[in-house]
Amino acid sequence: MKILYVCINFALLAGLIVLFARKTIVKLFSSRRKAINEALDEAQRLEEMTPPELVEPEFPQDPEAPSAAVAEEQALAEGKVAQVREAQARECRELHRVMIEKAKRQFYSVMQDAVRACFGEEPYLSRMRALEPKLLEEILGQIHLTPGDMAYLRHHDVLYVTLTSAWPLGEDLVHRVDAATTALLDTVGGKTSLWVREDPELIGGLRLRIGDTVYDGTVTEELYHFERSINREPVTSDEEAQEVLAEFLGKARTYQPKIHVYQLGRVMQVSDGICWMDGLADIMYGEVVEFECGERGMVLDIQRDRIGCVIFGEYENIESGSRVRRVGRIASVPVGDALLGRVVDAIGNPVDGEGYLYVTDRRPIECRAPGILDRAPVDRPLHTGIKAIDALVPIGKGQRELIIGDRQTGKTAIALDAILNQKGKDTVCIYVAIGQKETSVAEIKDRLTQYGAMEYTIIVAANASGSAATQYIAPFSGTAMAEYFMHAGRDVLIVYDDLSKHAVAYRELSLLLHRPSGREAYPGDIFYLHSRLLERSAHLSEEQGGGSITALPIIETLAGDISAYIPTNVISITDGQIFLESELFHEGQRPAINVGLSVSRVGGAAQTKLMKQVSASLRTNLAQYRELKDFTQLGSDVDEDTRKTLNAGAHLMEALQQGRYQPLEDWKQALLLFAVSEGYADDEPAGGMGAFEQALYDFFEQTQQPLVYALKSGIKADGSELEQLRAALGRFRQARA
Ligand code: ATP
Ligand code: MG
Repeated sequence: MKILYVCINFALLAGLIVLFARKTIVKLFSSRRKAINEALDEAQRLEEMTPPELVEPEFPQDPEAPSAAVAEEQALAEGKVAQVREAQARECRELHRVMIEKAKRQFYSVMQDAVRACFGEEPYLSRMRALEPKLLEEILGQIHLTPGDMAYLRHHDVLYVTLTSAWPLGEDLVHRVDAATTALLDTVGGKTSLWVREDPELIGGLRLRIGDTVYDGTVTEELYHFERSINREPVTSDEEAQEVLAEFLGKARTYQPKIHVYQLGRVMQVSDGICWMDGLADIMYGEVVEFECGERGMVLDIQRDRIGCVIFGEYENIESGSRVRRVGRIASVPVGDALLGRVVDAIGNPVDGEGYLYVTDRRPIECRAPGILDRAPVDRPLHTGIKAIDALVPIGKGQRELIIGDRQTGKTAIALDAILNQKGKDTVCIYVAIGQKETSVAEIKDRLTQYGAMEYTIIVAANASGSAATQYIAPFSGTAMAEYFMHAGRDVLIVYDDLSKHAVAYRELSLLLHRPSGREAYPGDIFYLHSRLLERSAHLSEEQGGGSITALPIIETLAGDISAYIPTNVISITDGQIFLESELFHEGQRPAINVGLSVSRVGGAAQTKLMKQVSASLRTNLAQYRELKDFTQLGSDVDEDTRKTLNAGAHLMEALQQGRYQPLEDWKQALLLFAVSEGYADDEPAGGMGAFEQALYDFFEQTQQPLVYALKSGIKADGSELEQLRAALGRFRQARA
């Protein structure tokens, strides 16, 4: 019953709602439906609409600048030229490879013929085998225990011996090897374990491996050496290839098996340009190793059970487990006059695309610095052509002068100007670019070529895109090249741009080699690294030929902080520093040399008397000026004396300004600075020093020839010539008034 009532009530309530609220409900739903339909229509409309085309805004064009289309065309053409060059280079490499392959194949067949011709009509194999006893005799005559073998024996009591041949060996030969190797251990104890194997790849001959040492009398080894000798010179044309082939065939006809002795190891692990190896028992620090893929590396870490080396080229091709062999020499670079005018990488390969480098001499990249008795004091000037440097921080031949400053303060500019100024002075210049962009190095080369300085300059480039290993060895390579000239009695100027990046590269290598890191994560021997490098700059005594290496290392500071780790290290190693300040640079005082913080500890001995006198007063005048300038900056009232000192100081500072690529002759520098420090320019208006300078040189060149001659040949600071100079300057001032 109850349920019936509820149902009736519910039906009545529903009827009432439908009766009164129907209109409102319908309205509510219809408005919703309308909104939905409108949104759908809008979406449809938007979808059907085509987007308006974007119109590129037009920029006003510079009438001087080439139009975008021309520039694009130019870029396209340049790109095509580069592509063609690359394709040509690829073709040459391919031809080279094909020729070597061809040579190898011919070698095998010609050798067979040659052997047949020597031994009559018998089959080749048996004749080749007839050589084996003699070959083995020779090998057994050479075998010995190396220090590495002894050490291995001490720890393992067994020495592994492997005898490999192209075909099965006779038992008597195997017995002879066994007996000879066992006899080798008679005095030291232990036993040998002999393994005999066949490897048709050897073509012919025998290979005996004792421990890590290989005595190789196989044809494959002979081919390896031949291939290396061909690789030394590029084969670029068919005629050249024919010549190489003819030479090769000549060698093959007179072929006699030779024994090559080398040591082998195995790659354990390769990563980040570092390779860990085992084997290579007697390897030395700094020695070159060669991987199976042809890449080379330098040993930088020797531990009890593994050897660490840095890889110069692509390390992606080196497989773990592959073989690695000692090349048998310490890392070295080509040296000689042929390098002048060239851009080479850290291991001395040309990278300027100007062809093959014909050099025969090499020098190890690490070499002992000349001893005390071989050196002479610094007594000859090395003019940089920069007024502020030659007057205030003079550099002598054989000196090491640091150029230090923040980024973009003109460090490289100073070094380049110093190189330009060596033109016609029989000084070889070497610019070592470490961790720089390739474009910067290309620009430097262009500049040097433009000013005719490239003919006496070598650029060693270890660019930022290269490995840390090449950046690490670049300054050592450059120094090795410099040493060649120094020992030949010539003068060399070497610029290391810059050693901060060198330190960073060495830190990277050291961390990868798991060496303990010290201050600022640099390894403990970073000071030794730079001192060992810079100690090689020297002025040799007459008995040693009298040559010299003058070094201009560059260090970049952060926010002018010269007390950081690497800057303090290099400051203490060098004979002085040229400190560049960004504040001065931005004020327009360029080169931005801070006279107070820059010193040259030995170069003064090489200055002319007049320059010495001028520079002594210059320093005090500039110091006074700086002090007064700071002092009077706040107040405007200054007395007459102070005003005069400020005026003279301002003129001096202005006289020390110098543009890039404008090295100034020595006599002009001395004349100008003498004139300014004696007050002959005090009446010049501010900013007028450029005109004064030019007028001064013109006046002397045109009217004062004897004095110019005296200035060039070194005027005495107390003689009558000085009075004549003052008189001439007086006349010059009168003429300008
Ligand atoms: P980085 O730290 O990048 O190696 P840097 O200290 O070697 O820089 P530079 O590249 O030699 O500095 O010079 C920086 C800029 O200052 C260059 O554009 C150069 O043209 C300019 N410059 C340097 N010296 C002078 C000068 N004497 N007169 C005018 N401009 C100069
Ligand atoms: Mg620079």
